[in-house]
Amino acid sequence: MFENLSGRLNEVFQNLRRRGKLTEADVDAALREVRMALLEADVNYGVVKDFIARVRERAVGAEVSRALNPAQQVIKIVHEELLNTLGPADRLNLSGPRPRVMMMVGLQGSGKTTAAAKIARLLRSQGERVLLVAADPYRPAAIKQLQTLGERVGVPVFTEDGKLPPEVVQHAFTQAEKGGVTVMIVDTAGRSQLDQQLMDELRAIARKVTIAETLLVVDSMIGQEAVHIATGFRDSVSLSGLVLTKMDGDARGGASISIRSVTGVPIKFLGTGEGIEALEAYDPARLAGRILG
Ligand code: GDP
Repeated sequence: MFENLSGRLNEVFQNLRRRGKLTEADVDAALREVRMALLEADVNYGVVKDFIARVRERAVGAEVSRALNPAQQVIKIVHEELLNTLGPADRLNLSGPRPRVMMMVGLQGSGKTTAAAKIARLLRSQGERVLLVAADPYRPAAIKQLQTLGERVGVPVFTEDGKLPPEVVQHAFTQAEKGGVTVMIVDTAGRSQLDQQLMDELRAIARKVTIAETLLVVDSMIGQEAVHIATGFRDSVSLSGLVLTKMDGDARGGASISIRSVTGVPIKFLGTGEGIEALEAYDPARLAGRILG
């Protein structure tokens, strides 16, 4: 995903390494290139601006002029500030009364149902007793898809015909409690756009059961639009984490760099393929490594 960006950044770094002592003008020229590369990768403008300002402040200061290897020092600062922008790793909050309820939210096609099954598989492999819940009564195909995925990962799927999502979730919870389920993952309805009805429905579910995690699933292929969607959801429901899907695609990748900074919501997982095992716990150091090449 980051081929172009990491190629460009490596070029900038190589040019820096060719110089011995760095002047302020050298640093500024390099940072202009870094800035352009980030903007072309579709990173949010404000995020780029802050990032460059932080790097510049450190890079033209004493840190670099006193360094034995100034270029290496600038590269180190870029790396550290990129990690700051990406934010720390954040894990699922699974401690507390059982069953823990995780709600998956997102627009249609974002990869929500796939992500629900991937996380179910992961938690099951960690010894949790998982129940998937199909809370999308409007699209029978979505229920069927969750059932198929549930079978594939060996996790039961709760469905109920003719009921609205809050009721389905409440019934699923009662069954989960009785059956010793430790984590219940609710696949909520996806819509083609952000609308009030969807938000009302998500809030109605949250009034029925205590939600431990609300994970927004967003497609990283749609660039800055992913950041806008995340902001819209965050303003209507309380999000505890993000799942960025389709990180295996050939998009420019900027959304994954700016989404945490813009929304304040931590990334918890990356979807890296269509296969059910293609899920990574979010690791900023690993992501930074891919970006910087
Ligand atoms: P939903 O409508 O949000 O529930 O989306 P789905 O889970 O049905 O996924 C939509 C499409 O995206 C399907 O074809 C999935 O196989 C695909 N998909 C989901 N996650 C990923 C991913 O991480 N990488 C790739 N390449 N495809 C994905």
